Amino acid sequence: MSELRLQGRSASPGLAAGPVVVLAAQTAVRQATGDPVHEAEALRTALKAAAIDIATLAEHAGGEAADMLGFQLALIEDDALAEGAFDAIGAGIPADHAWRAALNAEIAGYEAAEDEYFRARAADLADVRDRVLAELSGEAARAPTSGIVAAHDLPPSRFLGMDWSKGGAILLAGGSPTSHVAMLARSRGIPMIVGLGGDPARLAGDVLVDGTAGAVVIDPSPETRRAFESRRSEDEARAAAAATGLKEKAVTADGTPIAVLINVADPDELSGLDPAICDGIGLVRTEFLFHAADALPDEERQYDVYRRLVEWAASDGVPRTVTIRTLDAGGDKPIPGLTEDGESNPFLGVRGIRLSLKREGVFRVQLRALLRAAVLGPLKVMLPMVTVPDEIEATRRLMGEELAALDAAGVPARQPALGIMVEVPAAAIAIDDFDADFFSIGSNDLTQYITAAARDIGNVAYLADPLNPAVLRMVARVAARGAALGRDVSLCGDAGGEPAIIPHLVAAGLRTLSMAPVQLAAAKAAIRAIDLGRGVGEGADSACGAGK
Ligand code: PEP
Ligand code: MG
Repeated sequence: MSELRLQGRSASPGLAAGPVVVLAAQTAVRQATGDPVHEAEALRTALKAAAIDIATLAEHAGGEAADMLGFQLALIEDDALAEGAFDAIGAGIPADHAWRAALNAEIAGYEAAEDEYFRARAADLADVRDRVLAELSGEAARAPTSGIVAAHDLPPSRFLGMDWSKGGAILLAGGSPTSHVAMLARSRGIPMIVGLGGDPARLAGDVLVDGTAGAVVIDPSPETRRAFESRRSEDEARAAAAATGLKEKAVTADGTPIAVLINVADPDELSGLDPAICDGIGLVRTEFLFHAADALPDEERQYDVYRRLVEWAASDGVPRTVTIRTLDAGGDKPIPGLTEDGESNPFLGVRGIRLSLKREGVFRVQLRALLRAAVLGPLKVMLPMVTVPDEIEATRRLMGEELAALDAAGVPARQPALGIMVEVPAAAIAIDDFDADFFSIGSNDLTQYITAAARDIGNVAYLADPLNPAVLRMVARVAARGAALGRDVSLCGDAGGEPAIIPHLVAAGLRTLSMAPVQLAAAKAAIRAIDLGRGVGEGADSACGAGK
């Protein structure tokens, strides 16, 4: 049999080899009993088992994953969801057919919704549908729990239910590199390819996966396999070499030090991590606090989380700065009851600081917790989605009032440095007008707004490219203006941890990068290979001259 090569798009780098397990979506079949009472009982049992599975996954998940699983749990525990299916069962339809039809109707409703939030939730409903179908057919017990999996798309909950500790890979006929599951795969180091097209069943066989190039070889020839294995050994040697430098400072070949910080969404991510691997925390996405809870987190709960972060950063006795971003809800991160419903384009709507200033009561609680935590160590506060200077001034006024109230009540508190994310083009272009203590470039949003390519739409992912010369020139300009103004400039979007992009960011003038902890070793190795005397290519070269 000759080998077959397929090309898709890289969603998470890395190499993997082995047999493929094709995950079937909603193909579960079962033997109907013909008795409506038994069928209804079978559906009830399957719903209960699926709810237990989701609840167990949620217990071990953090951040957005916990939010998504919480949503699925709420769906499955809502009796209204299965009402139509039970009615159909009463009319003689077998349980699996009844459930599939009821859920498909529900999914179609979500897919047709005006609101992007509800459209995005259709995938969660499909996930719940398939999980219950798998329980009904007994397929759940046989579902693969590890290895290289192929599917049309993979819901995050399925990813979270698998054991990736022995490696594996994800091959998707559909999917998007900016999807939730792609972010999870990257943070766990699991190679993932999307957009392979066709029926996932054609991927069945023994495969070689090159997640970095987005290529799959099915039933490889002995020569292809040998070449792959030698590349894999080279990669492993490179990763091992990079890991040995993990606790060393990152300095370019020509002697320029680069501060390397980490991005955190949940303090649980820090357990087992030695703070010596980084120079501090460059971004805490506090949305997770608001997402995961049933109710908005109160001041004490927030203070406790911020305290844990500050304590972790200095746990080896070396003081390191922790930059905590105020709530960035809205856009693709809605919080029911807090964010605006029905916006036609939530990425351009009431998001980040816009929402915080609108919901002043909620914002004041967060500011008080931050002012108190600032007493515990070097803490900075950062505002997301700042568009006009007034937003900083309004925040300063609120902080001043809360600080005075805390002082009056005898509660220890302190004014921390107050900086802004530079992710809205208006702020990046007019950066001189923003009187912030520091700037941190949000390359994910800055790229989507400059290129007019939404970060959550797979079909335009090729345009949402941080290496676009317009983005690099903007980065270089902000770095240059920040230096001229005497303000620190860092970058904390995903680009900051990408070895292929880092040389361009450093050439553009950045000296502080913040990234996912899993990216540190490779990022530091990439920094050490940079020689600023030699230049890195057109985009960054032209970017270097752009700081005028
Ligand atoms: C960014 O936009 O680059 C960023 C760091 O913020 P988020 O990804 O949370 O929007
Ligand atoms: Mg952002």
